[in-house]
Amino acid sequence: MEIPFAESWKIKMVEPIRKSTREEREQWIKEAHYNVFQLKSEQVYIDLITDSGTNAMSDRQWAAMMMGDESYAGARSFFRLKDTIKQLTGFDYVIPTHQGRAAENVLFSYLVKEGDIVPGNSHFDTTKGHIEGRKATALDCTVDEAKDTQLEVPFKGNVDPAKLEKALAEHANKIPFIIVTITNNTAGGQPVSMQNLREVRAIADKYNKPVVFDSARFAENAYFIKTREEGYKDKTIKEIVKEMFSLADGMTMSAKKDAVVNMGGFIATRRQDWYDGAKGYCVQFEGYLTYGGMNGRDMEALATGLDENTEFDNLETRIKQVEYLAKRLDEFGIPYQRPAGGHAIFVDADKVLTNVPKEEFPAQTLTIELYLEAGIRGCEIGYILADRDPVTRENRFNGLDLLRLAIPRRVYTNNHMDVIAVALKNVYDRRNEINHGVRIKWEAPLMRHFTVQLERI
Ligand SMILES: *Cc1c(COP(=O)(O)O)cnc(C)c1O
Repeated sequence: MEIPFAESWKIKMVEPIRKSTREEREQWIKEAHYNVFQLKSEQVYIDLITDSGTNAMSDRQWAAMMMGDESYAGARSFFRLKDTIKQLTGFDYVIPTHQGRAAENVLFSYLVKEGDIVPGNSHFDTTKGHIEGRKATALDCTVDEAKDTQLEVPFKGNVDPAKLEKALAEHANKIPFIIVTITNNTAGGQPVSMQNLREVRAIADKYNKPVVFDSARFAENAYFIKTREEGYKDKTIKEIVKEMFSLADGMTMSAKKDAVVNMGGFIATRRQDWYDGAKGYCVQFEGYLTYGGMNGRDMEALATGLDENTEFDNLETRIKQVEYLAKRLDEFGIPYQRPAGGHAIFVDADKVLTNVPKEEFPAQTLTIELYLEAGIRGCEIGYILADRDPVTRENRFNGLDLLRLAIPRRVYTNNHMDVIAVALKNVYDRRNEINHGVRIKWEAPLMRHFTVQLERI
């Protein structure tokens, strides 16, 4: 008999979590204005709101924290981080920031001007926010396949080269750079192939434009290249990572994802002009150039996490857990963005709650129903998150409406995955009785999903 797959780690420390009753949850979600971001974490049993900063660090990461150098300037921990990043990516210049959006803020303060257009695959919400906040346009050039959740293609996160080329041909003088998000979070944690990264590079070179990778899940992307793309099976993750970044001029990084820490981020680049242009904004917004919003110990944990999570075993354990949940949902016929992505399952709410009109936000409604069912907190990645069009102020209903179940790294067991799958099945079984969703009572002008207040219809 074949030996089954199991985790490449064992558990050394645990944190108790608490179940609740349906009555309690009814009360709590009402008090939270039907916005799961406003729930207290004690009101949640299994927390899938994000895989960002919710990871369990390893014993080596905790040990590294004791070695943090807390010097204001020139900390040893910064140079260790810089060396690790240089080894992995080939980038010489590193600006540390407290998280990913801070890296965007610092770099875009230098690169993005009013009226600019920044094309790429689907922009992450904070990336879009930092572009639109500067009165520039985030132009989504993702492949059309990404919009069909039931289509099984290996690299659904890809940039459509024809759309990108068109954008450059029409607006070259307004485009400061191209941004590729790896993996493509908004399209369902879908990977981008090496072939596609090469095509983007070739188009960029033709128009003499630089390329930035929004790299939060670059290691998961490398895992998919290794396991799905021809020619990479025998390469190590670190070799693939090096090759990926050889195709970019620079990167922004939320270390809260693939560096398996709870807080941190950075910019890295091969371009001295970007470093010199952006570093003043780091000092202004984040802190001095050798800590940029992080403690010395944070930089140690980050460096160790980057090294560990670019090893195959660690990534395989993670991706297989996401696949496990996907297989359970397949048993129940629940539709999600196929194939399963790197860090999450994205349930296709439009296909589940077919009676709820899009104006009543089906994915948000499903998020609420799953919480009520079993205290599981997912997250809407759909029409609320899409914000309003900055010009017309209309809701944007042209994208996907998904319930994201993000799986924190090394936190939950497959027993938890079973609870999630069955709770969702129970909601799915009574989907035809759910005819109404929610309406917006109050919303912020940008990134409204974090603070929106809703009421049930
Ligand atoms: C999380 C994330 C960001 C923003 O990073 P924070 O650390 O949350 O500020 C940017 N881009 C992508 C693709 C992300 O997943």
